[in-house]
Amino acid sequence: MARAVAFGSVEVPSAVRVKGPEEAKKEARRIAVEEKDKVIIVGKGAWKVYAELAHEMRMNSENFYLLEALDPVEARLAGLSWGRLLLSRIAYTARRPAEKAFSELGSPEKRVTRRALLRGTIVEAAMEYTEKPVEDTVLCRNIAIEKYCENCLKACELEGGCPVSAALCGIELLYLPGYTRSGLHDALRSMAPLEKPGYALIAPRSSIAELLEKLSDPPNPVVIVPVSCPYVAGLEELLALHALGLQPVVVEAGWEPEIKRCRESRNPYRDMVESDYVKITGLRLIHSPEEAIELVNGEPQVLSVENPGQYLARGLRPLALAVLKKLGIAADLSTGFSSVLRVDTEKCTLCGACAYECPTNALKVKEATDVSALLFLHDRCIACGYCEEVCPENALSVPRAVNANLINTWTPLVLKESLRCIVCGEPLGATAMIEKTIERLILKGFHPENMPQLLMCESCKQKYSLGMISDDQIDYEALYRVVNRVRRRLGLEPLEPPKKK
Ligand code: SF4
Ligand code: SF4
Repeated sequence: MARAVAFGSVEVPSAVRVKGPEEAKKEARRIAVEEKDKVIIVGKGAWKVYAELAHEMRMNSENFYLLEALDPVEARLAGLSWGRLLLSRIAYTARRPAEKAFSELGSPEKRVTRRALLRGTIVEAAMEYTEKPVEDTVLCRNIAIEKYCENCLKACELEGGCPVSAALCGIELLYLPGYTRSGLHDALRSMAPLEKPGYALIAPRSSIAELLEKLSDPPNPVVIVPVSCPYVAGLEELLALHALGLQPVVVEAGWEPEIKRCRESRNPYRDMVESDYVKITGLRLIHSPEEAIELVNGEPQVLSVENPGQYLARGLRPLALAVLKKLGIAADLSTGFSSVLRVDTEKCTLCGACAYECPTNALKVKEATDVSALLFLHDRCIACGYCEEVCPENALSVPRAVNANLINTWTPLVLKESLRCIVCGEPLGATAMIEKTIERLILKGFHPENMPQLLMCESCKQKYSLGMISDDQIDYEALYRVVNRVRRRLGLEPLEPPKKK
């Protein structure tokens, strides 16, 4: 649970009450340093207190990740009740494992360099950085580093390894609630949907005090979304905001002096996200605080969907997809939001390796009596490229793209004739895959015509190995038909099936 330190006239149940900003700073620091507890500073001007205190603590190698703030002006701007905003900020802060964060300046040995990220696996480097950000280490360890999308590395020209890099991992191998996309999702879940369209200012915490001072009575709601770095918001998050009726503004301001170089360095990832965003929405993404202030005085241009709440419960991706659907959009992307897989149907044997390994279950092989199929659900695909990596036939490619026509439908990528069990007639799987196995056996000098179990279902295979199936129950003609098809392809003479006794 997060503790609250309140000053001024705001009503905050069970908060530690102090006289003013200076006392709030002292008390918040005491709670964070001595009690190692999370603390929300509440009151008019709270973000100014936050910015000063976070900077001091950072310079002192203290854990400023334990701090958060809430200014009552935020509730007025967003058109939300004060109680709702307070509860949502408390819940958001409480979910963050900020007590595990460390101070970069005080722990130089723990900093993760770009070279470290490239040399080792992303997971190990990220664990070193955040201590426990990793959801699923198995996937990450299995793939060679050059096979990744590398969004995390592209995000930072300096050295990577920051929470933003972690946030850009498409499959959320790198997961750090509170300071990454998940934190952003949590924050939005508790605030939206609003009653009328407005703006979402995604802003670094240290810039919020200045923004609030300049935002005097805009005609539309303005929700402030505190983040560690504005680049935490990827394409999916920006589109999801539209669905909630909020036009996103990514405010680039108020960075700590020592990370200013990040902003000043060219940032390919930021450009990629922006160009994808423009491709889909036709809107420019505003970055400067001055333009942001000007923008929020106009009419928001949002592509909101009906009943966003019903999507929100499932996360931000369904919301982003709902926007695409509304626009009927099909676009190639640079960022890793999703993919429309391309399969070389000649090469694909329907072995199912891709479906087995896909981390999001976006692929499945369906075996039916006459036809087997590789089916694909675009909504689930995160363009991780893992299927391409594991396909033994090099049949797959993963271009980044979105296509509204594919949403909510299992699309058949490959359809192939099925074989039946040569004993009971049950569907066995795709002809192409079984023929591939037979081809490999022939090339290795085996005689597949003497291995009838190759064309048996699991149950008949077991019975056959226990001697419970006699030769006259086996359709040898069917077995030889398949074997001879492969032999002909290999330029070998076909064989005669054994005569029935
Ligand atoms: S695309 Fe590749 S891995 Fe997937 S079923 Fe086809 S051959 Fe197997
Ligand atoms: S279909 Fe391929 S690219 Fe898409 S999520 Fe599954 S493994 Fe990753």
